Amino acid sequence: MRKKILGASWKMHKNTVEEIESFVAGVKGFSDFDKIETFLLPSFVLIPKLSELLKDTPIRWGAQTMSFVDYGAYTGEVSVIALKEFSSTYVEIGHAERREHFNETNAIVNQKCRLALEYGLVPVVCVGETKNEKDQGIGDDIINDQIEWACRGIDNNQVKRVIFAYEPVWAIGQQEGASEEYVQQQHRLIRDKIASLYSQNIANQVRIIYGGSVKYENAEALMLQSDVDGLFVGRFGLEPENFIKIANIVSKA
Ligand code: PEP
Repeated sequence: MRKKILGASWKMHKNTVEEIESFVAGVKGFSDFDKIETFLLPSFVLIPKLSELLKDTPIRWGAQTMSFVDYGAYTGEVSVIALKEFSSTYVEIGHAERREHFNETNAIVNQKCRLALEYGLVPVVCVGETKNEKDQGIGDDIINDQIEWACRGIDNNQVKRVIFAYEPVWAIGQQEGASEEYVQQQHRLIRDKIASLYSQNIANQVRIIYGGSVKYENAEALMLQSDVDGLFVGRFGLEPENFIKIANIVSKA
């Protein structure tokens, strides 16, 4: 049985201690977080404060990216070691915005994924096709390629710790996300790819979550899909009331 997941990335939307204090105060009353695996990804500098605020709760935390190396002369980068210093559990890798604006290639995604695993973090590896790629009929090839790259040098035991986030680029930041039927089909594609790289038994243990305009209205239908193991929210994870609504759906799925 794969444990269900709810993750939220705050991107660069929450930038003050006050904002994160008020979020945590707003979600603390929800008692079912322990039924699911829940994580919040703030900006780097707010991780120490968030770790303090969440330490006695079942909610975990992590970062939206990290450096592809652990030490050295890499001005401005943040090391996996610094993330561990504040007990981060997760690190998001290869988000569409990182791929687009910061040139995060499949090779870099792979380096970061291996580094995260080596240091005991859970990599949340984002994959997904753009609208253009989908329209050209090459979306599935792009996703298969992203998975294959991400998994290079990762062994059978390690891959079970990776969370794959299917985030079709065309569905991020929209009014409507991808339909639940389409998401199920793509999650199956991802699971099949993992099975071909490892085994069906391993693929059945790997968690695949969906992100892209998740909201209260589509969360339940998404969670009813057999290959959807959780949700990854952007905008809907910014307000505590909304986050609780989604957590409630995930915890009942
Ligand atoms: C995202 O960017 O990963 C995301 C899921 O954002 P939103 O929910 O706002 O579409």
